[in-house]
Amino acid sequence: MMRNAVTCDRESCLALSLEPEEPENTRFEDLIVEAGWVLRPAVVVLPGYPGAPDVLAHLCPACAAERGPVLERGECPTCAGATEDLDTGSTCRYCRKVVPHLADKWC
Ligand SMILES: [Zn+2]
Ligand SMILES: [Zn+2]
Repeated sequence: MMRNAVTCDRESCLALSLEPEEPENTRFEDLIVEAGWVLRPAVVVLPGYPGAPDVLAHLCPACAAERGPVLERGECPTCAGATEDLDTGSTCRYCRKVVPHLADKWC
């Protein structure tokens, strides 16, 4: 089966988001926008971007929040960036997405 994937168009950013293996009844584009990805005309978000004015740039949530680029890959479900374990959960170093620890970890 083909899975969609989106990568960040910002130079040297390694952010990546894969379509869920069991797609919900939602378009992949809607899913990633909900997750914080930004789709905008490339020339607006990336000055000097060699794309045509009508080409959409994909910015990861980290870059969209000026926290990018993602330089290290990790476990973040939103941008695939490296995460660190904080009290609140596994927190993305880049987009700050928090994945709460599973309850059974505390048993
Ligand atoms: Zn990015
Ligand atoms: Zn992230």
